Amino acid sequence: MVENLAKDIVTKARSECEYTADLLQRIIRVPSPSCQEEQVVKILREEMERFGAEEVFTDSIGNVVGRFGKGSKTILYDSHMDTVGVGDRACWKIDPFSAERRDGVIYGRGASDNKAGIACMVAGLKILTALARPGDFTLYVVGIVQEEDCEGLALSSLVEEKRLSPDCVVLGECTNLAINRGHRGRAELEVVTRGRSCHASAPERGENAIYKITPVIEGIERLAGGLPSDRFLGQGSIAVTKIDCETPSLNAVPDRCRIYIDRRVVPSDTRESIVGEIEGIARATGGQVAISRYSRPSYKGLSREREKFFPAWAIPEDSREVVRASQTYQLLFGDKPAVSKWVFSTDGNYSMGMKQIPTIGFGPAEERHAHAADDQVKVDHLWRSAAFYALFPYVYST
Ligand SMILES: [Zn+2]
Repeated sequence: MVENLAKDIVTKARSECEYTADLLQRIIRVPSPSCQEEQVVKILREEMERFGAEEVFTDSIGNVVGRFGKGSKTILYDSHMDTVGVGDRACWKIDPFSAERRDGVIYGRGASDNKAGIACMVAGLKILTALARPGDFTLYVVGIVQEEDCEGLALSSLVEEKRLSPDCVVLGECTNLAINRGHRGRAELEVVTRGRSCHASAPERGENAIYKITPVIEGIERLAGGLPSDRFLGQGSIAVTKIDCETPSLNAVPDRCRIYIDRRVVPSDTRESIVGEIEGIARATGGQVAISRYSRPSYKGLSREREKFFPAWAIPEDSREVVRASQTYQLLFGDKPAVSKWVFSTDGNYSMGMKQIPTIGFGPAEERHAHAADDQVKVDHLWRSAAFYALFPYVYST
């Protein structure tokens, strides 16, 4: 039964491959940096309405959602619509917004991260809608906003606003068609030291805030080698990424200095433990340690403030989600998928890291092209991903 469905889905996904490629090209041609995803939302919304998705809506923050089915298992597909900038244009051989297709590859900013993902999820929804086979699941396909700025924020906004309680979340972030089951988390932290300003011609009258932060920076550098590790996810890391200070003039002693820190975390790291380890270093100089906060308003004007702590997560290899995803892959393509992890961070920090909703990833394109010049995805990955997204809910819910 499910074998026949898999065959039908493969046939349909192959025949919809040009549709999927075209949809991807259309959304690449619309630049969509974080907080400016409106035009992509419009295209996806119209598309889902055109092929007759059972329900299509936009939530308060601006995510776009299409639904199929009304069964007992709730599955949420998540791919984000925003992209990072293009960086140095001279590094690109291909115009980042032309969505050029050459030798079976589509190029453009966001091709890998994460526009191919959302195009394939929408194509999967189209296939489901057209085949209209009954299944005991409710599937939400979600185009997410602001993921590059603050992963997890817009997903949490949707889940809380609509009171969704998914049994499973599937992330469409690029996995090169592997089943991914986790990644390290991350946090952004700040340390501020305060001094006392005075004329720089007589520095002994004041207290230099930069000198006060120097031992903190050295301490952080020493910390790096001894950070906790995880067998699957690897070791945590720490880096000072920026320094700035406030000073009345270049002939004055600065009275405030701030450093910014990127800390990659493993599951044993908590917000308390990572703040505590830096407080231990900063205490001697009176430095104040805090996790940075995010509060940029979405394109719809909604602003949800959040701390920039994104926990690590991993789901076991023998979990129902990983097993059913592997079966789905095998039914469609006849061989076993790779099971892997991401180097970067995703919305999974919220779904699995904070809410313990079983989460996996499966997506087109390769992680090495994410945020890089000549960002790209193979067209062959598009129909395969759309087929996976169409079949997985049946395999998962039975
Ligand atoms: Zn991404």
